[in-house]
Amino acid sequence: MVMYKVALIPGDGIGKEVIPEAVRVLKQTNLNFDFSFAEIGYDVWKKTGQSVTEDTLEEIKKNQAILFGATTTPNGIKNYKSAILTLRKSLDLYANIRPIKSYQIKGIRNDIDLIIVRENTEGLYSEIEFGDNNSVYTIRVITKTASERIAKVAFNIANTRRKKVTIVTKTNILRKSCGLFRDTCLNIQKEYPDIETNEMYIDTTALNIIIKPEYFDVILTTNLFGDILSDEAAGLIGGLGVTPSANIGEKYALFEPVHGSAPDIAGKGIANPMAAILSAVMMLQYFQEKKYADKIENAINIVLKEAKYLTPDLGGNNTTKDFTDAVISSLDF
Ligand code: ATP
Repeated sequence: MVMYKVALIPGDGIGKEVIPEAVRVLKQTNLNFDFSFAEIGYDVWKKTGQSVTEDTLEEIKKNQAILFGATTTPNGIKNYKSAILTLRKSLDLYANIRPIKSYQIKGIRNDIDLIIVRENTEGLYSEIEFGDNNSVYTIRVITKTASERIAKVAFNIANTRRKKVTIVTKTNILRKSCGLFRDTCLNIQKEYPDIETNEMYIDTTALNIIIKPEYFDVILTTNLFGDILSDEAAGLIGGLGVTPSANIGEKYALFEPVHGSAPDIAGKGIANPMAAILSAVMMLQYFQEKKYADKIENAINIVLKEAKYLTPDLGGNNTTKDFTDAVISSLDF
C-alpha cells in the first residue's frame, strides 16, 4: 500500500489546536501516512536568527506534502522574514488555490462556488523594500514566467469547472505590472479557446464578490489582490474558520487553512478546525484519494446541517474537539 510522507507544521496560536484535529480525521482513513513534525516561525527565529532554518527546510523537502497551521509574523521586527512566505518561495509553491464554496451552514447562501487562483511567489510580496524615514519603496515584481505558469493553473482548473476565468487587475493605474500580468494571461488563454475570459479591476471585483458571487468561476490574480479577495470571500461562506487552501509547486505542495494564528482565541479550545480539516481534504485530492476526500467533506456537511456541535464562530458553543468528534462520528468509509 502507498505510504504518504507528510510534514506537519502546526506553527503558532490556533495552528497548534487545529492541525492535530485534521490529523485525527486523516487517521480514520485506511491510508498509510508517515507524519513528521517541523518547527518554523518566530520562536525558531529567536533561537537561530532564521524563521525557517536550512536543516528544517531539508527535512521538509523529504516529504510529498506539508500540512501547515499558521505562524504569527511579529510586527516591527527588522529583518524578520515571514516563515510562510519563506516556505512558499523556497519550495517554489507558485500556485495558491483557495476554493470558496457554500457548505451547509445556516444563513449562508447555498450557491457560492468559486476558486481564487493567486500567484504566490512575487507581486507586492516580493519582500524587496528600501528607503529611509521619509520615503520607502516596495517593489512589485511581475514576471512573464510566473504569470504564465499561474495562468495555466487557472485555465486548467476552469477546464474542469464552469469554464470561466476572470483576470483581476488594476491595469488602468498599474499599467506596466498589471499590464504584463493581464497580457500574459490572455496569451495563455489562446491555448484554451473554449474558456470564457474577461478582465475585471480589483475594486470592482471586491464589490461583485459581495453582490453577485455566482458570477465567478475561477478568479486569476496577483499575490496581494488574491490574499485580500480570499479573506473577503471567506466572509460569504462562514468566515476564516471554514476556508482551506493549497499551495502547489512542481515538486512540493503545502496545505493550510486561510486563517492566521488568531491570537484572540488561541488557547481557549474553541477554534473552528473545519478549515484545517478541509485543507487535509485538499491534500487527499492532491494524492488522488478522491473517495476519502469526498467522504470527509460529506461528514463535515452532516455536522453543519445538524448544527449540534458548532464552534462559536458558526454560532454554536462547542469546542474544537467536539466538532472533530462529530465529524469522525459522521464518517462512513
Ligand atoms: P495572523 O497575524 O497570524 O494572520 P490575525 O489575527 O491577523 O493572525 P486571523 O488569525 O486570520 O488573523 O484571525 C482573524 C479573525 O478571525 C480573528 O478574530 C480570529 O479569531 C478569527 N478566526 C480565524 N481563524 C479562526 C478559526 N479557525 N475559528 C474561529 N475563528 C477564527
